[in-house]
Amino acid sequence: MIEKKFVQSIKELIFSQRCPICLRSNSDSHYICFECYRDLKRKGSLKNIENYYYLYYYDESIKRLIADFKLKNRKSLGKEIALLMKKPLNSLIGEKNVDIVLPVPISKARERERGFNQVEELLEECEISYEKVYREKNTEHMYKFLNEEKRKENIYKAFQNKGLDLNGKTILIVDDIVTTGSTIKEMIKELTKKSTPKQIYIFSFAVSKIFKP
Ligand SMILES: [Zn+2]
Repeated sequence: MIEKKFVQSIKELIFSQRCPICLRSNSDSHYICFECYRDLKRKGSLKNIENYYYLYYYDESIKRLIADFKLKNRKSLGKEIALLMKKPLNSLIGEKNVDIVLPVPISKARERERGFNQVEELLEECEISYEKVYREKNTEHMYKFLNEEKRKENIYKAFQNKGLDLNGKTILIVDDIVTTGSTIKEMIKELTKKSTPKQIYIFSFAVSKIFKP
């Protein structure tokens, strides 16, 4: 597993000029090639499963796109992802009369390691203002846990609302990828511990096909 990952990251370093979606080498100044961008635009309408809104299914190409953005510190790829999100996300905020946007926080340790919180970065690129809750626990990467119970354990009490008054507010939680939803559910637990929001919606760039609210 580790070896496979290592080989993959070496490959990614060598072929970093490739479009993360189709893997063809890309000579223009964008990361996502013109054809893939057009295709993503076409496919990326706002969809929902109950109160979870999303644009894409988390398939291999979207996985590479997010991984490139997060792990290779390509902030400029974030601009291209934000361009795909901006319109549908803003229309959701308008349509639902959202009062507070809350990006899913990452721990301080992870932020130091990565250099930025990818969700905050995307919101900033979209020029959407947001408030913050905190991640107090240095959790393991969720992808390491296939088992739902283990995921819940890992994320248990990871978040802290340091004094945001959410009473009667319509909240939109924003994440890049929702897989099982256990991170979101734990965050909602914290948000509803001391206050009673009017409504909570979730927006993520992508959602896994196994996700059930
Ligand atoms: Zn492409």
